[in-house]
Amino acid sequence: MNISCDIINDLLPLYHDGVCSEDSKNAVEEHLKHCESCRNELKAMDSELPITNRTENLAEAEAVKKLSKRWKKGMIKSVLKGAFFTLLTVVIFLLVLYLFVGIRIA
Ligand SMILES: [Zn+2]
Repeated sequence: MNISCDIINDLLPLYHDGVCSEDSKNAVEEHLKHCESCRNELKAMDSELPITNRTENLAEAEAVKKLSKRWKKGMIKSVLKGAFFTLLTVVIFLLVLYLFVGIRIA
């Protein structure tokens, strides 16, 4: 079967996505065995995948960024809370120490 590269190029996206008919698939595979330029074309389609992955990753990174922003806000709050309670503990400790020492002095 002698199919031109143009026809194969038309079929390649369908073949690549696995949505072409069995006959088309066989024709494409038969052609790919002998035609390097169409094989490269298919390879190029394969290497396009990381690009779509990259956009997905970008969206993911954006979501993570948003999440970390929210997380940072929460962390600042919890740090402030922690600092407040640490200060409170120190104040109470000093107060107790002062009272204890004060009582002993008195
Ligand atoms: Zn070809």
